[in-house]
Amino acid sequence: MILNMTTQTPVPPPNSITFLGTAGARFMVSKQLTASGGMWLNLDDTQLLVDPGPGCIVQSTKRKLHAERLSAIILTHRHLDHSADVNIMVEAMTQGGFRPHGKFFAPSDALGTEPVLYSYLRKSLDAIVVLEAGKNYTVGNVTFSTPIRHIHPVETYGLVFTAAGHKLAYITDTRYFDGLRQAYATAELVIINVVLLEPKAELDHMSIVEAAKLIVELKPKVAILTHYGMHVWQARPWEVAEKLTQETGIKVRAAHDGMKFELSELDANG
Ligand SMILES: [Zn+2]
Repeated sequence: MILNMTTQTPVPPPNSITFLGTAGARFMVSKQLTASGGMWLNLDDTQLLVDPGPGCIVQSTKRKLHAERLSAIILTHRHLDHSADVNIMVEAMTQGGFRPHGKFFAPSDALGTEPVLYSYLRKSLDAIVVLEAGKNYTVGNVTFSTPIRHIHPVETYGLVFTAAGHKLAYITDTRYFDGLRQAYATAELVIINVVLLEPKAELDHMSIVEAAKLIVELKPKVAILTHYGMHVWQARPWEVAEKLTQETGIKVRAAHDGMKFELSELDANG
C-alpha cells in the first residue's frame, strides 16, 4: 500500500498536546490500568516533555514521537508517577549522549540528595534548571512560568505556558487551596490532575468536587481532566467530564491515552 504523504497528519500536530498517559497515583500506575507517560507538547515548533512517568519511552515511541526533537524535559515534582522515565528520556533526547542538547527543569528537591537524574547523564544536557515559585523560563520559542508552589508532599510546581497565541495551565498534583485561583487565572486551557472523586483531608490531591469549583473560578475556554485515581477511573472520567460541562457551563473534557488536543480548538470555543 502506498500512503499519500501529503494527507498524513504530522506527528505531533503543530501546537498540540499529546497525552502519553492518564493514570494518577499508585494503584492506577502500578497496575497500568491506563498509561502514565506524561504529556508531549509541540508549541510554536518547540517540543517539550512534561512529567515522564513510567512507560513514557514506550508510549512516546509507540506514538512515533521523536525524543531527539525535544528541546526540554520539565518535571513538576519528583514523585515516581511523574519522574520514573526521566533518565531514559534524557538519554533518548540526547541520542545516548552523542548529541548533547536540551534542558532539564525540576524542583530543587528532585536534584538534591536523592536526585532523579543520574549524574553521568548530566553532561549530555545544555542546562539543568531549578524551578522556583514565581519565575519565568524560556525554551526555544516557548516561555513558561511556575506561578506558585503547590501543596503536595514534595516540592511541586504547576506550569503556565504562553505559546501560539494562547495561555495554557497544567495544574499538577496539589491539594486545593485559594492561591490556585490567582495563579492560574486567565489561562484559556487548564489541565487538572484529579486523583480523587471527593476531597480527602489526609491527602494532598485534588478531587473532582474541588476541580469543579476551580473550573468555575478560573473560567477557562476548555478544561481537561487527567491523572485519574482509581475511583475517578471507576466513575468513568468521560461521564464525569460531561456532568461537569453541564454543571459549570464550561467545556470539560476527559483526557484519554494518546489523546491529541490541538490548540486551534480553543479558537473554535472562543
Ligand atoms: Zn505527586
